[in-house]
Amino acid sequence: MSLLPYEDFQRRADAVCARIATACRRAGRDPAGVELLAVTKTHPAAAAAYAARYGLRGVGENRVQEGVEKRAQVEAVLRWELIGHLQSNKAGVAAEHFDRIQTVDSAKLLTQLDRAAAARGRPLPILLQVNAGDDPAKFGVAVADAPRLLETALGQNHLRVEGLMTIAPLSPDSAVAERAFARLRETRDLLAAQFQVPLAELSMGMSGDLDAAVAAGSTLVRVGSALFGDRP
Ligand SMILES: *Cc1c(COP(=O)(O)O)cnc(C)c1O
Repeated sequence: MSLLPYEDFQRRADAVCARIATACRRAGRDPAGVELLAVTKTHPAAAAAYAARYGLRGVGENRVQEGVEKRAQVEAVLRWELIGHLQSNKAGVAAEHFDRIQTVDSAKLLTQLDRAAAARGRPLPILLQVNAGDDPAKFGVAVADAPRLLETALGQNHLRVEGLMTIAPLSPDSAVAERAFARLRETRDLLAAQFQVPLAELSMGMSGDLDAAVAAGSTLVRVGSALFGDRP
């Protein structure tokens, strides 16, 4: 696996930050309210070190084992977030090695993560993944089933539900992603009111659609290729 030189990464990261700032300005938002999460999947561990050196606070990995291996190689202090689908048989390893799991979408996974979080001895932050674009190709709880999943999540003693996450459907029509982002935001607002919890984190937006996500209220954009180039 080859990684671009740091200076190239820096230029790309500056450009992504400028996109976030522009989208915030247009939406009347404070750029401090949007965090850039560097998605390092498929890239060597040095990609995470780049992110830390640039001043980013977190990285996203989509496979448990890959994240565990890289984390062991990186000294810099970073938040490691799991952004890929999690099978419940890997819940224990994930809870032990990740700082937050963004892809919780079933009651079964909730109970397994809760048990694992109890074993690790500190609360585990999670996001509920919602299939806000009704995309059959995507994981995530259906919008209609989100209240019941949140109720189950809030009933777990060792999990901290910090918000919602979605992946917009791939489409040449940018309105498709815009609709999914708006729907995640509305779902969050409704759930927060119904359950009286903040659900402050809205993880949405990637390299191709982060501008629309920020306009719709994203607090965390997950960006890979715009920072590190195309994945091998
Ligand atoms: C790979 C990935 C990203 C980053 O995608 P890019 O288009 O490379 O920015 C974001 N979120 C998830 C869940 C991913 O798997």
